[in-house]
Amino acid sequence: MERFDHFMARANAAYYAARDPFADFVTAPEISQVFGEILGGWARIAWEMMGSPGDIMLVEAGPGRGVLMADALRVFTPASVHFIETSPRLRESQGKHVPGAVWHDTLADVPKRPMILIANEFLDALPVRQFIRRAEGWMERHVDAGEYVELPVEIDLPDDPESSVREVNEPALAFVTEIASRRAIALLVDYGPENSAAGESVQAIRDGKYANPLNQPGTADITAHVDFTALATAARAAGADARGPVKQNVFLTALGLFQRSDFLAQKNPANAENLRLAARRLTAPDAMGGLFKVLAVCPPGFPPLPGFETCATRQNS
Ligand code: SAH
Repeated sequence: MERFDHFMARANAAYYAARDPFADFVTAPEISQVFGEILGGWARIAWEMMGSPGDIMLVEAGPGRGVLMADALRVFTPASVHFIETSPRLRESQGKHVPGAVWHDTLADVPKRPMILIANEFLDALPVRQFIRRAEGWMERHVDAGEYVELPVEIDLPDDPESSVREVNEPALAFVTEIASRRAIALLVDYGPENSAAGESVQAIRDGKYANPLNQPGTADITAHVDFTALATAARAAGADARGPVKQNVFLTALGLFQRSDFLAQKNPANAENLRLAARRLTAPDAMGGLFKVLAVCPPGFPPLPGFETCATRQNS
């Protein structure tokens, strides 16, 4: 028997080590090169706002095939490129797209220098603890021989009605805390609600279809929605500021997704229709555009970041 988050961590490590995740799902950078170009443009502006430090690192967590970074580097040339990636298989693909990158297993291993970090669909792959409210109090889900087992747990959670589920992504909270304590700037893009909510969001995708997360661990991609409120709270508790989350479509539109797509379409008419469809897909309000959110983490008092101009800023206290 093991805790659900331990089960999920093992299952996903096996999945990313052995499988091609892009056979199972499509991510934004795989839909349009403009996604990575916009993140690269954002990083470039953030770097200028930092005072253009000469030793700036551009770090990407969970870079997949490496295409987001390859697109970003057309717009911004940092002093060095770092990847946080545990899968040897994906590291190989990333190396083909981004020669000269340096790999690390965790954020803690990345050198302590000025840093801009980007991540798309990284935090949702990190393991969540799952709690379920019963008459006697909160219980924690464990996994035993392919079945859930609930054990009592001491945990500080809202007083939700019976049968409510809460998910806590401890590695994601630790990740944001580390970004905050480094006084780094980060742009985190992921699937999840604007505000914390009770509810079960764990899902597994095998061969492009929904599957039972407990069956055949390592053959399905297991994800959970990202709790942006919890991440913003963790960043602020560690002395940083958090801006957003804003919806992906609002962010990408503000940063010029449609203008850039049109420009590329004019230069390459054979690809024009693809580019226009891709831009629409990334911004569809009832799909990727509205379900994905973008959160920025930055030092307190940092000036308004592109795409987050309307978000409140917190001064250094
Ligand atoms: N950002 C990419 C890929 C998303 S898939 C895209 O948008 O296309 C998730 C990525 O996170 C994969 O590269 C996977 O190998 C990596 N990953 C998952 N869990 C990880 C962990 N615990 N540590 C480091 N990388 C991890």
